[in-house]
Amino acid sequence: MPRGVVPRQPSKSGRHQGTPAKKSLPARPGRARSPVQAQPGKRGKRGGVPRGYDALAPARIAEILKRLDQLYPDVTCALTHRNAWELLVATILSAQSTDANVNRVTPELFRKYPTVQDFAALTPEQLQPDVRSTGFFRNKSKSVVGAAQKIVNEFHGEVPDNMEQLLTLPGVARKTANVILGTWFKKADGIVVDTHVTRISRRLELTKNSDAVKIEQDLMKEIPRERWILFSHQIIWHGRKLCIARRPKCAECALEHLCHAADKTWSTVEIHKNAK
Ligand code: SF4
Repeated sequence: MPRGVVPRQPSKSGRHQGTPAKKSLPARPGRARSPVQAQPGKRGKRGGVPRGYDALAPARIAEILKRLDQLYPDVTCALTHRNAWELLVATILSAQSTDANVNRVTPELFRKYPTVQDFAALTPEQLQPDVRSTGFFRNKSKSVVGAAQKIVNEFHGEVPDNMEQLLTLPGVARKTANVILGTWFKKADGIVVDTHVTRISRRLELTKNSDAVKIEQDLMKEIPRERWILFSHQIIWHGRKLCIARRPKCAECALEHLCHAADKTWSTVEIHKNAK
């Protein structure tokens, strides 16, 4: 090893390491030479929270956003759609399923039933075979048909473009409403909180809550409003690509030096028991 080159090691102080900016996502084989396994049983001083560390410090939040921009500059919703109604149907179908699975189902579904009026004319039972492979198909069929009927009967066949009216549709809670408002109408009314956003917000100590509504409230206070839409998409993509639920790929993660999650698989900083 050349003189003066010191391999990255876990921090003793728990403070950030100030590692150089990482320009690309691919794994760096050199970093994997001396992986340090996170050890959830070993905490820093004072209950695992290093002195002077503030997880919500504006500089730390800004650095997280900057790194997300570098990793995922132009990401958007992965659900295939051509209009607000198709996005609404796809989002309802995506609950407890994957976007890829939904994207396999929706092209044929929208070929068979091209308009919201076509869906409104169905019974939930008629729709069930078409959405069966997305799981929970009985409830989803009921929600989709119910939403179509309400949109046709009360909103002149147009998907509402505001939170209040979207929340009156069957099967639509804040997560789905935020997807429609942010992705289709480009309105930042809130932040999408799905399973990825829940997990990663906790790992990055942006929230200590596990309830989606409370997590969204925390994030809305911490993240600048003009970043709400993109932040949701970036975190969701990060959850798919690197910060996966089991064995996150921390050695490849450009946020690693900012992350103190207890379940990290590779760490250069002190880990925190509450960041999981
Ligand atoms: S370092 Fe690991 S746990 Fe933390 S954000 Fe990156 S992938 Fe997720």
